Amino acid sequence: MTSHANRPAAGQATGFASLLAGDEPGEPRLKLAVQRSGRLTDDTLELLRSIGLEFESYGQRLFSHCRNFPLSILYGRDDDIPEYVALGTVDLGIVGRNLLHEENVAVEELMPLGFGYCSLIVAVLRDAPYQEPAELLAAKVATSYPGSARRYFAGLGGSPEIITLSGSVEVAPSLGLADAVVELTATGSTLMLNDLRPIATVLESEAVLAAHPDALADPVRRASIDRLLLRIRAVRAAKRYKYLMMNAPEAALPAIRAVVPGLKAPTIVPLADPGWVAVHTAIEEDAFWESIERLRAAGATEILVSSLEKLML
Ligand code: ATP
Ligand code: ZN
Repeated sequence: MTSHANRPAAGQATGFASLLAGDEPGEPRLKLAVQRSGRLTDDTLELLRSIGLEFESYGQRLFSHCRNFPLSILYGRDDDIPEYVALGTVDLGIVGRNLLHEENVAVEELMPLGFGYCSLIVAVLRDAPYQEPAELLAAKVATSYPGSARRYFAGLGGSPEIITLSGSVEVAPSLGLADAVVELTATGSTLMLNDLRPIATVLESEAVLAAHPDALADPVRRASIDRLLLRIRAVRAAKRYKYLMMNAPEAALPAIRAVVPGLKAPTIVPLADPGWVAVHTAIEEDAFWESIERLRAAGATEILVSSLEKLML
């Protein structure tokens, strides 16, 4: 975790704006900011490629143009992305919800993206007497997210002393620097390692697609954003479902239908064998094994399962 406290604001944004200004006439390009190098980068680039965008992302490049979509990608520090979107330096950003919350910026959160899951939590030393965050209102709280911490405790009716650290926040209590931390955690292992005990959750976070309100209000940019959203939805829905084909005696159909209602209804195709049919449908990954067992019990055989690439619902 690098500094969230001292970020280059408008100056750097202006630099990017001029870099990105080279729109070809007649083809307004959407501008999307993504994290250049960090926890969100691999999943972000994978998502963009999975929706069919072609672009270069190797090395230390600052931006790239998509070859097959009117979009330019800007690679930046994650801390700066909320401000780029809020200032309109870019139209879109992919960034952790925790940072939008921290910067408290006026941007639209268009869609959660299903990666970069983490929680912003309040934690104290394992043996500390605190059980509730409300007991910390006169305490010292170390954090890299001073805005979020301040607003959280203000909501509880107080203002503890906030100590802003750019890294290693989790060691502050054992060093005697603070009574508590407000820190991000995904698995809790760093907390455990530092003898910390979570007592409250400030925010559940994941990577989101955020947009500047003007980009949404402009019909041309809006149309491109809607195309991107449609594609992202299709890829995300496909991940949730499996495609299922099976053969079954016609008499088993009512029981099979009860297990796999299908997205609307299953497709049923007669087979050469009289009295037998093939059933095609999609089922949710979550209920997968249970559904398969129930289908076998209902009389389905030769059950074939495959992954979906895209699913337009
Ligand atoms: P940058 O160099 O871009 O400023 P950084 O070091 O500040 O990067 P990362 O550690 O790469 O940031 O985290 C980026 C985002 O990943 C966080 O803002 C958060 O949304 C998410 N994230 C997921 N799990 C964790 C975690 N365990 N700790 C911190 N962030 C996490
Ligand atoms: Zn950062």
